[in-house]
Amino acid sequence: MMFEQPRLTGAPQLMPRETAQSYLGRLTGFYVCRTQKEFCKDFGLDVVGILYGQRDALQELAHLTGACLDQLDRWTPKRIDKSRMEIAGNVLSIRDNPRRQLRLCPLCAKEDATNNPDVPVDLAVYGRCEWMLGIVDVCASHQVRLVQRRANVRCTRESDITYETSLFLEDLHDLEIEPGELNAFERYALGRIGSLPQVYAELLDPLSLGAVANVCLALGSDILRAGSVFNGSQRQRWEAGFLALNSGHDGFTRALEKARGAPRLGVMASSTIPRLMLLLNKRPADLAGFANTMRPLLAKVFPYRSDDVLLGRSSSAHYLDTFPRVARKYGVPRGLLVAAVNNVPGLAIEPWSRPSQALIDVRKASQFFRNKAPYLLSAEVCRIIGSTPTGAIPRVRRWIKLGLLPLPMLDAPVLHFSAEDVRNHLRVLAKSLEAMGETPGWTSIHSLSAETGADLESFA
Ligand SMILES: [Zn+2]
Repeated sequence: MMFEQPRLTGAPQLMPRETAQSYLGRLTGFYVCRTQKEFCKDFGLDVVGILYGQRDALQELAHLTGACLDQLDRWTPKRIDKSRMEIAGNVLSIRDNPRRQLRLCPLCAKEDATNNPDVPVDLAVYGRCEWMLGIVDVCASHQVRLVQRRANVRCTRESDITYETSLFLEDLHDLEIEPGELNAFERYALGRIGSLPQVYAELLDPLSLGAVANVCLALGSDILRAGSVFNGSQRQRWEAGFLALNSGHDGFTRALEKARGAPRLGVMASSTIPRLMLLLNKRPADLAGFANTMRPLLAKVFPYRSDDVLLGRSSSAHYLDTFPRVARKYGVPRGLLVAAVNNVPGLAIEPWSRPSQALIDVRKASQFFRNKAPYLLSAEVCRIIGSTPTGAIPRVRRWIKLGLLPLPMLDAPVLHFSAEDVRNHLRVLAKSLEAMGETPGWTSIHSLSAETGADLESFA
């Protein structure tokens, strides 16, 4: 069979990236059949099979005309079910039935007509695969918006490409040409079907093209809504979502932080990016893996507590709490917690307008205070200083200011002295005072003892 000559000689050539649906339409016109159904009947082809892009039907068409089956198969949209189609291995949802919504680039069409002056315009103009995509609105070669026309039919079986196209093309020279630049999302989509060089997008490449379109549209709507009152066209929403998702984990995190503003406990992802969260919470099968990728990124950006549920699971990435609650829990004076928030990277999640409004990462806080708190607040230190933990801090501060105690570490976020430190420094101080006799502000070791509340015996 393979080596048999095509049965139709002199048939129009299949054009680059031409769909079988378009090719069938041009053949019908060329052989002067009234309808494509009639053409298929005459030549023993399966008209519905061709319109649905079924391989067997395309094979018969290729055999009849001598067209390259691989090319025909590659560029022909295939119906999967009522709501999905496949183009070059990419699953897409059918927004507008592509057989009912005719789309074309007016400049490509004019070029086709100019290049084939001897044939009627509806035989010269052929349908490119990318016009059927439904998510790309601009011609990549001409940078103009595609024009569309709705065919007056009820279902695919009834549609007649030849007739509909010829109606469309009658107006070809009157079609308005609107300049339009191919945006990043469209460039990506065309890369996925192979009509432009491929663009790689770490977060999106594992998804079907249809899922990419859904995710980008949902996120883009959220981002544009968060940014202003302006919701944007569908094209702009696709692009906004794509730009946020195409910048890798870090870029995506930054885009979310921008949309979120200052973090507040209880403000979940679902209130900042509601459409994307709704889509991910529904978790259609093709987004299950994507939801898993999103979970840690969302947990990084949005304040979740350990018992909050994020995309169907409790969040374990963060256990956040508010400043006053952390201060109470660890018995840390407010001023010290402010110093800690300002100085310990990652202790609070950024950004905050005032440290006291910061959200604290509880795991970091417990780690930090487990290490520092014994020095800071130990009963032993307090006993030497003769004060409660809260009272001890200003007293130690004052000693540092007076030069009685050296700073423990220049970059230390909080002041911490062990009981041993306090005892040693006071002992050294007492000795030098003894040697010097009287010092301004400190009349004697007794007054020092009284001022510091320290046990005199400890100096001995
Ligand atoms: Zn064009």
